[in-house]
Amino acid sequence: MAANREDIAKQGSGIRTGQQYLEGLRDDREIWTQGKRVADVTSEPGMGRGAQTLAAFLDNQHDDKYRDSVTYVADDGCRCAMAFKTPKSVEDIKARGKAYYEWAKWSNGMFGRTPDYKNASLMAFASAPDFLSQGVKGPGGAAMAQNMTDFYHYARTNDRVLTHTLVNPTFNHAQAASGKFSEKVALQVVKETDAGIIVNGARLLATLGPLADEIEVFPSTVLRATDDNIPFAFAFAIPIATPGLKLICRDTYDHGKSHFDAPLSSRYEEMDAVVVFENVLVPWERVFMYGQPELCNQAFNATNAVVHMAHQVACSKLAKSEFMVGLMCAIAKATGRDKDLYTKGLIAEVMQMTETVRALLFSAEEQAHVDQHGNFIPLRSPLDTSRNMYPKMYPRMVEILQLLGSSSLMATPTEADFSNALANDVEQYFQLANLESKDRVALYRLAHDVAVSGFGNRQALYERFFFGPPALMASAYFDIYSKDPLIDRIESLLASN
Ligand SMILES: Cc1cc2nc3c(=O)[nH]c(=O)nc-3n(C[C@H](O)[C@H](O)[C@H](O)COP(=O)(O)OP(=O)(O)OC[C@H]3O[C@@H](n4cnc5c(N)ncnc54)[C@H](O)[C@@H]3O)c2cc1C
Repeated sequence: MAANREDIAKQGSGIRTGQQYLEGLRDDREIWTQGKRVADVTSEPGMGRGAQTLAAFLDNQHDDKYRDSVTYVADDGCRCAMAFKTPKSVEDIKARGKAYYEWAKWSNGMFGRTPDYKNASLMAFASAPDFLSQGVKGPGGAAMAQNMTDFYHYARTNDRVLTHTLVNPTFNHAQAASGKFSEKVALQVVKETDAGIIVNGARLLATLGPLADEIEVFPSTVLRATDDNIPFAFAFAIPIATPGLKLICRDTYDHGKSHFDAPLSSRYEEMDAVVVFENVLVPWERVFMYGQPELCNQAFNATNAVVHMAHQVACSKLAKSEFMVGLMCAIAKATGRDKDLYTKGLIAEVMQMTETVRALLFSAEEQAHVDQHGNFIPLRSPLDTSRNMYPKMYPRMVEILQLLGSSSLMATPTEADFSNALANDVEQYFQLANLESKDRVALYRLAHDVAVSGFGNRQALYERFFFGPPALMASAYFDIYSKDPLIDRIESLLASN
């Protein structure tokens, strides 16, 4: 049983250790993989090492080296993760950005769904109570805005790890494009009781779902529901171990290899799962919006949750891009191709993408301003630009790595071959001008995990889609872009004829 807010504040620490996180995962959650139900996600092959990695990140919050940049002491005296801090100045925005970047560097951006991503949105929702208080009241007249405030404090002071699922499965594209959901597959309210709402159906995906404490079930940022979509309009959060909640995992990309053989997939398997709700009871106190499609449609924009999430994303993409530059430069140096025009041109393209993300991030943070709720937000447009460009940038970075690495990306021996009968051969034939054989193999196995392995391909898919369908994101970008002053210039030129 988690301690309450006052207890935690008295103890002065809302940040958990990795061990506490792992213990929390050993509950009744219903996780399915490879045709069977998982008994314990923390020791499940193909899943457990991802949990251990996240546990180590949570431990970092206690480390003198990182504590002051990734945590803060809240007004109630509780030390909490920085992403929970409501920003009241440009400095607060920069401090949040620094914390996101630090978290991302721990995995070089390869563990995409670190808890700061969802914490950022939770902070935004709770810091805009005027928005949610427009919603209907729950039984007893309790404003759902209060439910969100309570949940935020619970997550903040107990250092909850959240996932989210925003998108209903598509049954028919035309139906989905017209803003309607299929009652055959989409998550919907089937009953109201005194205790809460009963929901049934599926949601497309929850990255980190099997390794999270709680799941936020919110309306999508970009998919617009029509007014008649009442049963599909809601927002709530429940523990992963809620009865009736089932997570169906995709195939794992952690095949149990050593860190040498699979440097990324052996560490950063964060797992994605389709989420099935079989008559799940959501208690009223965990419902934040209900039966109001229009309110749901506005939620991420009106609270600026989307801006804070995009801020976290830009920081993590900067760390990831820097990693890609470092990897490519290490390969070029090892082969001696760092003098070659073609190679330099390819890597320069990745450097320019990296510097574009950095510049957009800088622009957003430097132009942070107060929002309609009295909090600070980074300037939205550079962050929107970054999140629309990165789904194209990252696959191009992977393509460039493939062009640089060619067959070396897959024609590599394993760690075991350095201590078996092949040892002399692999020492001899895998050396490079500037690198011993074993170091060369390690470097290219890392590049393989980025550019060739199942893990690497899932990363590229993630970058393309995790923030939503690119076509709809671009359409939303077009809609909010400040176009009129530019059209005016065209019109005034034409009028001057
Ligand atoms: C690795 C990974 C992790 C993810 N993690 C999460 C998560 O944690 N939580 C979560 O909620 N979601 C998550 N997503 C899901 C993501 O939100 C969806 O993949 C995304 O919204 C696209 O939906 P879809 O997969 O159904 O594709 P579709 O909607 O079927 O789209 C397929 C293609 O059609 C295009 N398209 C779609 N609609 C239109 C339209 N109206 N007009 C023109 N073109 C259109 C899309 O741009 C895309 O190119 C994840 C996705 C991936 C790949």
